[in-house]
Amino acid sequence: MKAVQVTGPHNLNIVEKDKPVITAKEEVLIKVKMVGICGSDIHIYHGTNPLATLPRVIGHEVTGEVEAIGEGVEGLSVGDKVVIEPIESCGHCYACRTGRGNVCSNLEVYGVHRDGGMQEYMVMPQKLVHKVNGDLDWKESVLIEPFTIGAQANWRGDVQNGDTVFIMGAGPIGLCCLKVAKSKGATVIISDLNESRLEFAKEWGADYTIHASRSNVTEELMEITKQEGANVVIDAVCLPQTFEQAIEVASVAGRVVVLGFDERPSQIKQLPITKKEVTITGSRLQTNQFPGVIGMFNEQSFDTTGMVTQIFQLEQIHEAIQLIETSPQEVMKVVISFEK
Ligand code: MN
Ligand code: ZN
Repeated sequence: MKAVQVTGPHNLNIVEKDKPVITAKEEVLIKVKMVGICGSDIHIYHGTNPLATLPRVIGHEVTGEVEAIGEGVEGLSVGDKVVIEPIESCGHCYACRTGRGNVCSNLEVYGVHRDGGMQEYMVMPQKLVHKVNGDLDWKESVLIEPFTIGAQANWRGDVQNGDTVFIMGAGPIGLCCLKVAKSKGATVIISDLNESRLEFAKEWGADYTIHASRSNVTEELMEITKQEGANVVIDAVCLPQTFEQAIEVASVAGRVVVLGFDERPSQIKQLPITKKEVTITGSRLQTNQFPGVIGMFNEQSFDTTGMVTQIFQLEQIHEAIQLIETSPQEVMKVVISFEK
């Protein structure tokens, strides 16, 4: 079978691998149908993901069909449409003991520390395989994993019905955060530098959009919120300055959700944090978000049209990456299809 493997910086190839087989009774063999390409896959390709070990089959946004099940597997049948939960935790460390396996000290992520989904078949433990509604298109179910990231950010920010949520950045993660926040009954303000992304965010339910270079973001946000500020700020731009701004525009008793990997320091004053009693919280991957997000996707009314902007065949992986890198304004989510 074919797999997309990174062996070193800028060295990504389609390789021939043995088709995996079920070796334990709780395992599931999945025929991969579609895999989303994420910024983190691109970082592995460039050699700028310090966590990744090589050689590595990339891809963690994976949907497919059950091809075979081990004798101990219950609740899944051959032919079921599924998504994979791409994280494995130890079960013993402090994070695991407190139900936060996503920040396990011994965390292993499929597509980063273990081979991921950009291959024709995968064998996964049943606990990491989730069944979805058979009516979903592959280009819908492939978005479930990115939406769990949005759901996690909303959970970490404790987004409540009636809250005003400010999302910085209208890329795929910002948009997933937006849809989840809207489903919780929040009013959502979203900012970006790209006009077409802001228009798209409006179609996806944003109540207000702010063009981050054409206007004074803080002033505009304060005006929209009648000087209250945002009850929750989700920073999906992740620059030192956006973190600073997030604290500035958070309301009293507000929450700031950090998703970035930038190692450069931000200049954060203590006073606004103490005075407003702001909660600053990190959000990484997801904990137990798959069932809720799958529930949203299984609703006929839940519409993700427009998020998947391009579908490439496995053999076109280099073209797909080139498009993401050379024409970022033309792409939202690019996916690789394993269907001929
Ligand atoms: Mn991703
Ligand atoms: Zn652990």
